[in-house]
Amino acid sequence: MSRVLVIGCGGVASVAISKCCQVSEVFTELCIASRTKSKCDELAAKLAPKTATKITTAQVDADKVDELIALINGYKPDLVMNIALPYQDLTIMDACLACGVNYMDTANYEPEDTEDPEWRAIYEKRCKEAGFSAYFDYSWQWAYRKKFEDAGLTALLGCGFDPGVTQAYCAYAKKHEFDTIDTIDILDCNGGDHGYPFATNFNPEINLREVSAPGSYWENGHWVEIPPMTIKREYDFDQVGRKDMYLLHHEEIESIALNIPEARRIRFFMTFGQSYLTHMKCLENVGMLSTTPILFEGHEIVPIQFLKALLPDPASLGPRTHGKTNIGCIFTGKKNGQAKTYYIYNVCDHQECYREVGSQAISYTTGVPAMCGALMLLTGKWTTKGVHTVEEFDPDPFLDALDKYGLPRSENRAPALVD
Ligand code: NDP
Repeated sequence: MSRVLVIGCGGVASVAISKCCQVSEVFTELCIASRTKSKCDELAAKLAPKTATKITTAQVDADKVDELIALINGYKPDLVMNIALPYQDLTIMDACLACGVNYMDTANYEPEDTEDPEWRAIYEKRCKEAGFSAYFDYSWQWAYRKKFEDAGLTALLGCGFDPGVTQAYCAYAKKHEFDTIDTIDILDCNGGDHGYPFATNFNPEINLREVSAPGSYWENGHWVEIPPMTIKREYDFDQVGRKDMYLLHHEEIESIALNIPEARRIRFFMTFGQSYLTHMKCLENVGMLSTTPILFEGHEIVPIQFLKALLPDPASLGPRTHGKTNIGCIFTGKKNGQAKTYYIYNVCDHQECYREVGSQAISYTTGVPAMCGALMLLTGKWTTKGVHTVEEFDPDPFLDALDKYGLPRSENRAPALVD
């Protein structure tokens, strides 16, 4: 029996909300609040006839802490699920602290305006000290650890697939498969085809920022940064086949390096087709990926936001996308003194997701873990107070929930390794 407030009603939130409505015995009441209330109303109307969960909707600008506080105090939820954008992480955490409510999200904080001088000064210092230059990192949210602990509240960070399930896979490998882990390769393969020459599978602004940034990996206790897309490998993915994949910086590397300190090397690879890369390079070269506002015919516009308006809405790709995703982690290490390897992954079919919840697999593979993370917090399986990432919690009930609610694991004890 719980009341949950979901903030955001885009591609990922729609899946998470649909899944919550399949578990009405836990998610008894749900409020969907977002910037555009009509989207919340539309989803609520679609789900209401099929669920016992009591759904209400609200309008909120999650950049404004006062508005959030009024909404949370009015609804009195047990948990706030932030499935808006990473830009809103800190304002929503502030509001949760002010109202004494647990918090979770699916991506770590990054600022909308990367030219803000105050933010930039802290960012540039971090780039020098830490050795990676991504706009996002955990420091902003880890700074809330003591506040959440003192308030007796939990903030669960990054509970999608990657970040999220990939960290649960790490915790599972550490708990059941290895005494010590030597290397971790996270492989994210999307073998889906939506038929458009160019579209992103989740929020274009967040996606293109991530992909066009320098790559980096963790090795021997420090970051190694490389120019974007300069480490390429080919891998033969179960049920998908051979794909080119590229090394990217990814947020969970930072927390895994902290929580599994013996790991000598941690890398993240994502598959991309040549058409995607060529379009992205071209858009970048002409300045369309810029977040700096420009004046156009008397109006101020942000190029990447204008591009977002032109690109297909990721939430609309569901009916067109065919094929499968395969996301997981390959580990090397030792058990009982013996060297061993282990691969744990999930394969998800775009069309099956569409038939079930009307969305493609990228939103599905993020929205289902968000629901399962909420389930862990609401049913008392994950209770540690403070600000935590997924690998800090017991992976067993979470992976069991994923098996049950649509993202079952597969295992391979003799996988091909990535050189
Ligand atoms: P969308 O752009 O589809 O949806 C974002 C939603 O947030 C929209 O409903 C939008 O409202 C709402 N929103 C944006 N700004 C505000 C605001 N100021 N106040 C209130 N609501 C706001 O994004 P996705 O669903 O694709 O992504 C959601 C999150 O999931 C992102 O943080 C993304 O980084 C993360 N993600 C995580 C993954 C993982 O594996 N961990 C993978 C993929 C995504 P409006 O309709 O008005 O635009």
